[in-house]
Amino acid sequence: GAQATDIDTVVIGSGPGGYVAAIRAAELGQKVTIIESTFIGGVCLNVGCIPSKALINVGHHYHDAVSEQPFGLKSSGTELDWKTTQEWKQKKVVNQLTGGVEMLLKKHRVDIIHGVASFVDNKQINVVKGDDHELFQFNNCILATGSRPIEIPGFAFGKRIVDSTAALSLPEIPKHLIVIGGGVIGFELGSVYQNLGSKVTVIEGLDHVLSGFDKEMIQPVLDDFKAQGGEIFTSAKAKSASQTEKDVTVTFEADGKEQTVDGDYLLVSVGRRPNTDNIGLNNTNVKLTDRGLVEIDDTMKTNVSHIYAIGDITVGPALAHKASFQGKIAAAAISGDQNAHDLHYSLPAVAYTNYELATTGETPESVKEKKLDAKAYKFPFAANGRALSINEGKGFIRLISDNQTKALIGSQIVGPGASDLISELSLAIENGLTTEDISLTIHPHPTLGEAIMDASELADGLPIHI
Ligand code: FAD
Repeated sequence: GAQATDIDTVVIGSGPGGYVAAIRAAELGQKVTIIESTFIGGVCLNVGCIPSKALINVGHHYHDAVSEQPFGLKSSGTELDWKTTQEWKQKKVVNQLTGGVEMLLKKHRVDIIHGVASFVDNKQINVVKGDDHELFQFNNCILATGSRPIEIPGFAFGKRIVDSTAALSLPEIPKHLIVIGGGVIGFELGSVYQNLGSKVTVIEGLDHVLSGFDKEMIQPVLDDFKAQGGEIFTSAKAKSASQTEKDVTVTFEADGKEQTVDGDYLLVSVGRRPNTDNIGLNNTNVKLTDRGLVEIDDTMKTNVSHIYAIGDITVGPALAHKASFQGKIAAAAISGDQNAHDLHYSLPAVAYTNYELATTGETPESVKEKKLDAKAYKFPFAANGRALSINEGKGFIRLISDNQTKALIGSQIVGPGASDLISELSLAIENGLTTEDISLTIHPHPTLGEAIMDASELADGLPIHI
């Protein structure tokens, strides 16, 4: 056979898992090669977290501009130049970041190979580069091939039926966007277009939307979605879709009867499939779960001792920060760090809906399930000066603390700045801080973060503002 080129540590995939693992492994002295089949930065930077947040931001600006504001601002003639929006998103946001990642990889002398990698056996990979291919033999491998949208039978992607990737670059603002799958991605992209003027209909199979966030949290989101003319069908079974050049009709079953809805675009966002079925893993001894995820230990090692796996291909939520966190552990483990174990207590999750949702650590449900001796304390943004001054007085911060130790063990936030505020709570949980530790920390005034201090004082039994 062909002579294999020797490489030391190979990282397959350059998403937030792979590129972070590559840089950290290089920092720790490894000679690293990264292989990417599509775009540096993976799903997250190119067609996930980042471009979606860019569009969400545009949606907020537009919606604020065209809505009547209680503080007396009226504007007229507001127009959105969608082509410019798309160019800005691509050139000033996505390309800027992916270019930065490529630079960082080069700075750390990581060799970048553009090609499709697949395993030949436990020690070798074949990389296809166009018509060419090359065989590599590696010492260590960090597998970070991520995931792709699930296509469901009867809903073949095309001009009118799109996945999340195409939904980020629609040629126009839909008049009526139908969304199958009311999870975070469906709601985030749905709210982008709703804020830009689309009618949005969500069809969800479960009896609730936005799984992962509790009823009380999602209520403001649902109220807002409906106030803007949005429709939601839960416990609904999408049966088929037919698309013409100009529109798409979805047939679904809800409330015991068959119904149809017509729109001009249909986003199918029913989940993501791990990229483990197309990388030759059957030629290795790497074990998969029955859902096709790679089994790993707390150092990210698979059952094959020199192959590690991180990110969306592993068990747990498909989140960029989970992938990066795992990437750093895998890099350290490969570099011989005996302390490289996944010991986290809190894995925050955020939904960038019109009222942002954020959760970290324990939830009221998990407290019940685990029969923990803990209590929840809730402080409303309506009592926070900064929130009112930015016209964002809805939502709340919930803290969950251990009744004995008073340590913070969980937090949920719905409302302004939730995505940024949650990090303080994760820091507190990871370090075993009590609510009193938070109360005694001076929070600047007036800030949204003061609501965290206020919630802590409430937990201490010494509330000032409620
Ligand atoms: P990926 O980012 O999927 O990267 C894997 C890379 O591997 C890809 O570049 C792929 O081309 C490459 N690859 C695959 N197979 C091969 C092969 N055989 N050879 C070479 N290369 C290969 N998460 C958040 O935390 N916050 C968010 O706000 C958020 N928003 C999202 C919005 C959308 C619309 C979507 C779709 C996802 C969002 N996510 C978000 C999820 C997030 O994008 C993923 O969890 C994250 O990208 C996973 O990182 P990863 O490194 O595991 O894989």
